[in-house]
Order: sequence, then structure tokens, then C-alpha cells
Amino acid sequence: MKKVAVLGSTGSIGVQALQIIDGNPELSLHSILCNANIEKLNLQREKFNPSVACMVEPSSKADSKIISGDFAIEAAIDEADLVLNAIVGSAGLKASLMTVERGLSLALANKESLVAGGDLLEDSIEKGLIIPIDSEHSTIFRCLQGESRCTGITLTASGGALRNMSADKMKNTSPSDVLAHPTWNMGARITVDSATMVNKAFEVMEAGWLFPGVPVDVVIHPQSIIHSFVRMADGSWKALLGSPDMRIPIQYALLYPDGRLNEVTTDIPADWGNLELLEVEKDKYPAFNLVMQAGKDGKGYPAVANAADEIAVAAFLKGRIGFGGIAKVIEIALEQHNPVEISTFDDVMDADKCARRDAEMAVEKLC
Ligand code: MG
Repeated sequence: MKKVAVLGSTGSIGVQALQIIDGNPELSLHSILCNANIEKLNLQREKFNPSVACMVEPSSKADSKIISGDFAIEAAIDEADLVLNAIVGSAGLKASLMTVERGLSLALANKESLVAGGDLLEDSIEKGLIIPIDSEHSTIFRCLQGESRCTGITLTASGGALRNMSADKMKNTSPSDVLAHPTWNMGARITVDSATMVNKAFEVMEAGWLFPGVPVDVVIHPQSIIHSFVRMADGSWKALLGSPDMRIPIQYALLYPDGRLNEVTTDIPADWGNLELLEVEKDKYPAFNLVMQAGKDGKGYPAVANAADEIAVAAFLKGRIGFGGIAKVIEIALEQHNPVEISTFDDVMDADKCARRDAEMAVEKLC
């Protein structure tokens, strides 16, 4: 049995991972870790009976068996065979680094690990320690099994809730319009990031780290049935299709390389209807263009783009800035950044901290 540590167990990916582990005899739940949601953590302890339960924020409501504070992550991953990292935000990078330093396999759902800390995880990717959980990257990873050469990657993007809106109208759209995502049911930040296409720019960066040396492209696919494409040496393409369900990539990562996959979805091709593939209208997505450029510039720029986007999206959701303000905040933070090479965790955190300050100041100005 493979002993799994689930970091970020109370979030959407974590909750689905616990169900998959519970329903598969090849997997056992070693530990769960959450940030601060003690009520949900306690329910999960009762239901799934992990050997270890941890919480990052200390709480007076936690009983003595819950490990909290500075050693929480360490306690959760020690003695695990596989670590699923679904921590939200840049805190997840630390957990990823601790996992690969121990030589453990990392099922990765934390975006910031590769976006902000790709430089620090490069060797571990080469060693094959990282299995992606993001649906696009999981698809590419699967399509490349048994293939020796791939000449291109095309990520599919739904285009988010505002795909059919004109660029002008988009600028003044409200949080509730943006949060009504047509195909994927996700957290608030990623749903906004999907409407700005910033999420896709981050995914291009992630693909760059996971599948080095292969050009990465983006195509709009509103139905979210095709979960990305891989172009083979002979010019033919491979893809993974099916109705969008994160349990598919989660289960795949947990059972990789040779576990028995359970049936998760039951849709058939006739259910999918028309599948459209459209070019990205670049002028509609200024934040996407900025973050794509940050990815090309490398160094601290991706970390800055990530931190600035987080601040900008929070400000948008609180009604402090308009939808069009998100790109402006990112732009200002990137301009303020003094580029440095990223060689340690602290380098990433420094870039992150400065960018948050610059982005906050930009929000103040736009308010
Ligand atoms: Mg994705």
C-alpha cells in the first residue's frame, strides 16, 4: 500500500483526494494537513482516520494529537511514500521543496511551486519526482507516456466566464459575472484567473518546467472536454478527452505509474456536443500578455506576477478595483521589480514580498 500525505486536505482538491484514497485498496491515508480549518480537519480525522493530522496555524480548539506550527509540514510528510501538495498559494513551495529534498514523489496541485519556484525544482523534475495534477499538465504527462519525442504542446483554455464579451465591456464587469464559470467549478481566485487568462499564462510557465525544450501554445476551447494536446514527431496529435472532473488527474497522480485506475466518469462522446477550438484574441487579455512576458523574462518576474495577481484579484473581489485594474496592478508590480536570479527559497519569498507591497500600493492608487 502506498502511504499518502495530503497537504491542503480541506480544500477542493484535498477533499477529492481523500475520497479517492478511501475508495482504492492500493492507497492508504498517512496524513492530512490544513491551514486553519479545524472543524473540517476534525471531521476528516473521524471519517478517514489518518495516522497523522497537522495544522499550520496553531489553534486553541485543536486537541493535543494535532501537530501544529513550524513542524506541521515536516510531520505530515515524514514516513509518507507520496505527498500530494494541494496547499493554496506560495506557502506550497516550501512543502514541495521539503518533499523532493527527502527524495519523495510529489503529486503537485500547488501552482506556485513551479510558477515562482521552478528554478528550485528543476533537478527534481529531471529525476521524475514530480507528477502534475493540474488537468492540462496531467493530460500532457499521460500523453507522453511511452513516447520518446514530442514537438509541441497546446494547452486548452476555456476562456472563462467573459469569453464572449468585448474587450471594452470586460473592463467594467463585476465579480459575480466573473465567478460564474461555465465549465469548471473552482475556487474564486482561479475562476478570476481563468477570466483574465492569467491562469493559462501560469500554466504555460508550468509546462515549460515540466516538459523542457518543447514549445508551448494556447488554444481556446470553451467546452473544456479536450484537456490539452501533444504534437508528435510525425505531426500527429494526442489528447485526453472527457467531461471536466479533477478526480481524473488526482487519481492518476496518486496511482502513477502502475496502479489500477477506478472508473470516475461515465460520459460518452455523443454527450459532448460540438467541440470548438479558437485562437486566443490577445488584445482581450492584457493580463495574460503581461504574465506570459514575465514567464519569458524568468528570474524573479514569475514570482512577482503571481504575487501581484493574488493581490489584484483579492482587490477586485472586494470591489476595490475594476476588472481592468487587475492587469494594471500586475503591470505596475512587474515594472517596479529589480530582477534577481532565483537560487534559494528566500529569493522567491523576497520577490513575492516586494511584489505584494508594490501591488498593494498600485491598488491604493487605482481605488
Ligand atoms: Mg488547469
